[in-house]
Amino acid sequence: MLQSKGYAAQSSTSGLAPFSFERRDPKPDDVVVEIAFCGICHSDIHQVRDEWGGSMYPMVPGHEIVGRVTKIGKDVTRFKEGDLAGVGVMVDSCRVCDNCKAQEEAYCEKGFVGTYNARGYDGVLVHGGYSTNIVVNERYVHTLSARLEPKLAAVAPLLCAGITTYSPLRHWKVGPGKKVGIVGLGGLGHMGLKFAHSFGAEVTLFTTSAGKEADARRLGADHVVISKDPDQMAREKSKYDFLLDCVSAPHDLNEYLGLLRLDGTLCQVGLPEKPLPVNAFSMVTNRRSMSGSMIGGMAETQQMLDYCAEHDIVSDIEMTSVDQINQAYERVVKADVKYRFVIDMETL
Ligand SMILES: [Zn+2]
Ligand SMILES: [Zn+2]
Repeated sequence: MLQSKGYAAQSSTSGLAPFSFERRDPKPDDVVVEIAFCGICHSDIHQVRDEWGGSMYPMVPGHEIVGRVTKIGKDVTRFKEGDLAGVGVMVDSCRVCDNCKAQEEAYCEKGFVGTYNARGYDGVLVHGGYSTNIVVNERYVHTLSARLEPKLAAVAPLLCAGITTYSPLRHWKVGPGKKVGIVGLGGLGHMGLKFAHSFGAEVTLFTTSAGKEADARRLGADHVVISKDPDQMAREKSKYDFLLDCVSAPHDLNEYLGLLRLDGTLCQVGLPEKPLPVNAFSMVTNRRSMSGSMIGGMAETQQMLDYCAEHDIVSDIEMTSVDQINQAYERVVKADVKYRFVIDMETL
């Protein structure tokens, strides 16, 4: 077995503390990645604290992983020792269902194997990226262009926050001539702004905080609407082709649906804990659609990473050391980070 060190939660109330564990020896098609940086995703906190139910402990969180390949199995073709590599939200899927065959592994009919807080199909609990290394089948590992190396820490959040926003913006063909709204400026929203702007759309940020306007414009917003101001919201009615809703706090979906023009779509990527009511009248008016999207498939995630390398897009991050994780969690919960914490694994 391969020795690994990390930070783990032992229960929903324990917080995170140092933890030693073993990973499987690499199989012929596995790569071993020595982890350089791992992002802190809000879903790490939800799962550590068992806020979605069903959490499995001990839990080593982390699914925004970048590092370097230190070992490869004999059948590995896409990597060699020393290559940069990235691992995101999943480490396996069934590979044979219609959705896997269509390269939509995020929607695997058997359910993909999450990077942590999940059991592999062999029943073994898997551990994530707040750790020294990870062993993953090469099909679920991404290559990283050398152009990303100077900003490697800021690449980590692309593996979750990046693909979660890139995929729906591509699916709904956001681009020139489209009027697009990004709702909420946090880890997801700041990537939504960067991608929507880069794809050539006219982009509006909807935010509750007037203090975020300058940052929003720097990140790619053409307009900023303060969503608490009813007059500003009324002026935007029925104007938008597409809204990417990145908010996980309670909010009025009907107000946002009202912003969509004929055949417009609202796509939910934030994950509010409780159901949000939708009024049928908000939908039938302008033949609107309400949808959702979850991360993206392996091929699309690779495409996103390659796009970011080509267009010099990374996340805005604040670095933290591993012994400060619990404090970082408190600040994420208070939305007091611009816009993603990344753990420097050298500090482990
Ligand atoms: Zn995530
Ligand atoms: Zn499948």
